[in-house]
Amino acid sequence: MPTKYIFITGGVVSSLGKGLAAASIGRLMEARGFGVTLQKLDPYLNVDPGTMSPYQHGEVYVTEDGVETDLDLGHYERFTSSVSTRDHNFTSGRIYEQVIAKERRGDYLGGTVQVIPHVTDEIKQSIRKISKGADIQIVEIGGTVGDIESLPFLEAIRQFRLEVGRTDAVFVHLTLVPYIGASGELKTKPTQHSVRDLRAIGIQPDVLMCRTDRFIPKEIKKKIALFCNVPEEAVITAKDVETIYEVPLVLAREGLDAILLKLLDLPYRDKNMDDWVRMVEKIKSPAGGDVAIGIVGKYVTYEDSYKSLNEALCHGGIANDVRVKLRWIEADNMTDGQLQEAIAPCHGILVPGGFGIRGVAGMLEAIRHARERKIPFFGICLGLQCAVIEFARNVCGLEGANSSEFEPNTAHPVIDLLPEQHGVVDMGGSMRLGAYPCVLKPGSRAQVAYDADVVGERHRHRYEVNPEYHAVLQEHGMVFSGMSPDGRLVEIIELADHPYFVAGQFHPELTSRPGPSHPLFREFVGAALARRRGVAAAGVPAAPAVVTG
Ligand code: GLN
Repeated sequence: MPTKYIFITGGVVSSLGKGLAAASIGRLMEARGFGVTLQKLDPYLNVDPGTMSPYQHGEVYVTEDGVETDLDLGHYERFTSSVSTRDHNFTSGRIYEQVIAKERRGDYLGGTVQVIPHVTDEIKQSIRKISKGADIQIVEIGGTVGDIESLPFLEAIRQFRLEVGRTDAVFVHLTLVPYIGASGELKTKPTQHSVRDLRAIGIQPDVLMCRTDRFIPKEIKKKIALFCNVPEEAVITAKDVETIYEVPLVLAREGLDAILLKLLDLPYRDKNMDDWVRMVEKIKSPAGGDVAIGIVGKYVTYEDSYKSLNEALCHGGIANDVRVKLRWIEADNMTDGQLQEAIAPCHGILVPGGFGIRGVAGMLEAIRHARERKIPFFGICLGLQCAVIEFARNVCGLEGANSSEFEPNTAHPVIDLLPEQHGVVDMGGSMRLGAYPCVLKPGSRAQVAYDADVVGERHRHRYEVNPEYHAVLQEHGMVFSGMSPDGRLVEIIELADHPYFVAGQFHPELTSRPGPSHPLFREFVGAALARRRGVAAAGVPAAPAVVTG
């Protein structure tokens, strides 16, 4: 069977949830037994999102093969079993880079190089690059219809449809149908305008997904269908939901998957979403109540910078049948008193990844509290590095221990670049990116949690635990429970005399799924729950007396 294509565009405003719509369609198609692959085409000119600010662009999602990509790829991997690679995310910058490289090589034989056909051909080739073996390929076009920079992508998918034929490609357009309180009405005009823009460039959408806060009544659907030239059954309500994992269920109820199958001339198969339904029920009303996790980080005011982390904690909650309530604690500019106050109601403390010194002092303090007061702690990447610095200073007595990222001339560079990394000046050039194997120490907390001897985890960092300090850290009780196969790089640390003090040099949040949750998140949330129960049972305040060591 040739690969079938579903192209998803967005109109009216950004942030309507195109990525989630794509991921949800993927989930529904998989539930009907089709193999899916998902791709994101981003109109901006950056070659990849790796150097973009987390404040502007949200999290940088790292693939198995070590590419820094758009955070929507995280949704794709969390909702479906498709694994993303370098070719699952193209930006205009990368497309142009490829076209210009060909021009420089003389591939165009001296012809005039133009957006049409050269850039559009490159886009079409990039789409086809990942089609092999997939029953259905879902391609999300970033940006909003009407943006100048989206035009080459829209033109390319218009041509693509013409080449493959009507039943092998469909256009799904996501728009907004706002409810205007003053008149008590749902408004269809923005959708009409958006579809008109799309049709002006030659794309007639087959399906309209209308984002609203309520179900769209039949007569409004009829009106949208008439004005936008689509059948009424293809006007789908994309209603706001309590949890993102509910999106596929709501869309299925509206008949989205059935109409897509019909348009793509695919055989109708029963779908099985039973496990997913149960999982959503658990998220919405967990039997075990709430657990509070404090996230002490740098980009906490902008939640999109920690998208996968958010989700991984939710998954840890599902595994323990609790709702994880996040308390974002801005590590910068906090007095110790303020920090203690912020931490006091938390059943667990997490220090996530990050770059630069801002907020590190607060993270170190938070870790000290967690270690001394036996509050469950989970460190991720920078969180591991801070845990090592804190331990070196306060347990090993290495005064002024630091990372050379924060203090190049520190007396004790417990976190440092490896000798071979020195001299690499290109930003990102010296970065350890993508999946690396990690050998687990038998009987350690990590090994028991994973129930495996070797695991693969995704990295995105430059600095490492300095091998010269491995011995002193271990002598003072730090356990290296995960190491690179050559024993040179520390991948996981933990403390034995603590309910849960674990940190990883990698990003476990990138591989966590709603079912099954990443083992380290499952265990961390489990430990936080145990603390809450212990605290509740004993009727003592959240922060018990200081226990040192
Ligand atoms: N800044 C640290 C490094 O480059 C940690 C990076 C991270 O947390 N992703 O090694």
